[in-house]
Amino acid sequence: MIPYGKQDINQQDIDAVIAVLQSDFLTQGPQVPLFEQALIDHSGAVYAVACNSATSALHLACLALELGAGDWLWTTPITFVASANCGLYCGAQVDFVDIDPVTYNLCPKALEQKLIIAKAEGKLPKVVIPVHLCGQSCDMAAIHTLSLQFGFKIIEDAAHAIGGEYQGKPIGCGDYSDITIFSFHPVKIVTTAEGGAALTNQQALADKMVLLRSHGITRDKSLMTLITGLPIAAQGDWYYQQIELGFNYRMTELQAALGVSQMQRLTQFVSERQRLALRYNQLLADLPLTLPKQLKQTNSAWHLYVVGLQLDNTTLSQQQVFKQLRELGIGVNVHYIPVHTQPYYQAMGFVVGDFPAAEHYYQQALSLPLFHGMTHTQQDEVVTALRIALLIDG
Ligand SMILES: *Cc1c(COP(=O)(O)O)cnc(C)c1O
Repeated sequence: MIPYGKQDINQQDIDAVIAVLQSDFLTQGPQVPLFEQALIDHSGAVYAVACNSATSALHLACLALELGAGDWLWTTPITFVASANCGLYCGAQVDFVDIDPVTYNLCPKALEQKLIIAKAEGKLPKVVIPVHLCGQSCDMAAIHTLSLQFGFKIIEDAAHAIGGEYQGKPIGCGDYSDITIFSFHPVKIVTTAEGGAALTNQQALADKMVLLRSHGITRDKSLMTLITGLPIAAQGDWYYQQIELGFNYRMTELQAALGVSQMQRLTQFVSERQRLALRYNQLLADLPLTLPKQLKQTNSAWHLYVVGLQLDNTTLSQQQVFKQLRELGIGVNVHYIPVHTQPYYQAMGFVVGDFPAAEHYYQQALSLPLFHGMTHTQQDEVVTALRIALLIDG
């Protein structure tokens, strides 16, 4: 089976992890700061906070922006559930904004319309999470303008998008948002096995995320609270205080060392994905498929190559095409089931029909295999299988 996504591990990655195993620190050592510095060097952000997943980074980001009970978080329905769940972790309510039918990203026009209504009802969101689907940036300038007008904070879910660019700058630079999240799950562009990071240009947000990443505990005496009978100055060097309710969301040294090594090949990973995507564009041009549209101001990181099946004038269904491709050894997938149609969200009152553009997208979307190290032979196999599944003679 040719998988839809896959990690690329070389000898340098393996050596880096083994070196950590033979060192003094398996966690809380020098590798995590080195990995964070690599993320800073790449993106141009001022601070990076590495975590054990993007899901925990999203949670920390929401907490740093003081999302809580009584607040609203809005995101797109076409995303992984984690982009919405982070709001629920904080006790906030979650709502969705429909997608742009061309880019499949959160639609700024739909956002504006929903904001106008929410303002009249006194239910404006505190946080909006645009997701850079497949690695292509959302229209961040438009979303940022709305954030100034309506007073919400922005977390970019860039789980798909490390190595992508918007307006000629790396995604993660934070020009149009408060915090950007990356994921390092093996199917993503760069991997640490499990892992994520939150990037920001605001020191207060970075400090808060660092504190909450590790139990809400500090060793910084200037942050400590005076407790009667326990003068801080008289405490020894072992003394720490818990000043918030935090978590253990730390990344290990093994993961960070893998990440440092992987980051050295980020440009190579993205340019090879881009080459393969352009080759798909050529090979698939004559098939009844909607190919991915790229906006002028974006450079996708190409986490996913999603085609739209044009089956209206055929007797075929998305399910039949999917099944046939799997039987032919092609590990196609569908990204994503609209989050508002998940039972957990239906129980909160969402119904099918709430976000028509997202639902229409879902009914015809298919992610084709795309990963660093995919050969042209493998890619040709995917295209041939697609021709067979679509009943088109090659
Ligand atoms: C993968 C993914 C996440 C979660 O990432 P983890 O590192 O697995 O927690 C969040 N958002 C999106 C859009 C993703 O694709």
